[in-house]
Amino acid sequence: MALIMKDSFGRILDYIRISVTDRCNFRCRYCMPEEGIDWIPHDKIMSYEDIRFLVSVLADMGVKRIRFTGGEPFVRRGFLQFITSIRREFRSIAVAVTTNGSLLERYADEIATLGLQSLNVSLDTLDPEKFAEITRTGELERVLRGIALVSAAGVPLKINTVVIRGFNLEEVPALIRYAAQNGALLRFIEFMPLDADVWSQRQYVPANEVISMFPGPGSWLCAQGVDQNGADTPNGPARYLRNSDTGQEVGIISAVSDHFCHTCNRLRVTSTGEIRPCLFSNAGISIIESLKDHDADAVREAFLMAVKHKPHEGGTGLPVANADDPGVPLRPIACVDKEEPPVGSGCSTAERHMSRIGG
Ligand code: SF4
Repeated sequence: MALIMKDSFGRILDYIRISVTDRCNFRCRYCMPEEGIDWIPHDKIMSYEDIRFLVSVLADMGVKRIRFTGGEPFVRRGFLQFITSIRREFRSIAVAVTTNGSLLERYADEIATLGLQSLNVSLDTLDPEKFAEITRTGELERVLRGIALVSAAGVPLKINTVVIRGFNLEEVPALIRYAAQNGALLRFIEFMPLDADVWSQRQYVPANEVISMFPGPGSWLCAQGVDQNGADTPNGPARYLRNSDTGQEVGIISAVSDHFCHTCNRLRVTSTGEIRPCLFSNAGISIIESLKDHDADAVREAFLMAVKHKPHEGGTGLPVANADDPGVPLRPIACVDKEEPPVGSGCSTAERHMSRIGG
């Protein structure tokens, strides 16, 4: 019988996000500086063979879903062939990919054959100038053409939009219409303070304000549980609303105003082979050597240690309330074991660039 990862708070951890690269062809303002970051040398990141071995261990530990992320995963050479082989070898695991959409146009035909459970595209605006501004190097039209192609090919699509006041809040209705036209499940995500240098209280928009922008006709009512791609989401971070007239569903990920730690069913593995129990903590456990040695016991032990040290609440990442900057009420970070590395785990506290954490 497969070992199941269950933490001391009763959460079953059956969803793993694996970053295959920290590299990206965009330079999104909320992710990295214009000049990029120092890319991690190739010999320091997991090889596909390392990741394949990791997936084989995870399959025996009851993991049901794996999402591959970056940076931008499609920039890594051989990624499509790698996913094809993972799908073939591990049929019990649902595979999803998160992308910035820049290479969908080029690879749409191949992506359509992968049998992905979902392809998540990050898209924050439908305005070409704003898109170029926030991604610094991105071209909106290319992304939209790619989305149209994979949508027409029947790939289950999700669009993730980070809502930022003064940037894209007014686009909420247009984005909802765009998602409907492309058969995509749209999820709005609150702007998370992962990086204090780029996050500002004034740009943060709480979920309720985003929902108040949803357009008619029809009203938006709570939809429970299952998203339109057929994936159970009781442990997922999104709440869904369904339009009473059209049946369209739109998700809200209120990571800040109503953080969802109590339902968190995920662990992350960085491209350098480090298990991260919580997005809001830099604590991690390195498994890269164990992967290279094909030491399944050591990998399992590291995951069990990560599960043991997974915080009950990673908090919102918000700083403690500042009397000079009233806005939405701030809560202090409430975190069990936050920033305290697992004992004897060889953990690190690398910077929290999203491209390194894997989003
Ligand atoms: S990893 Fe994602 S958020 Fe970061 S620069 Fe690339 S596309 Fe933008």
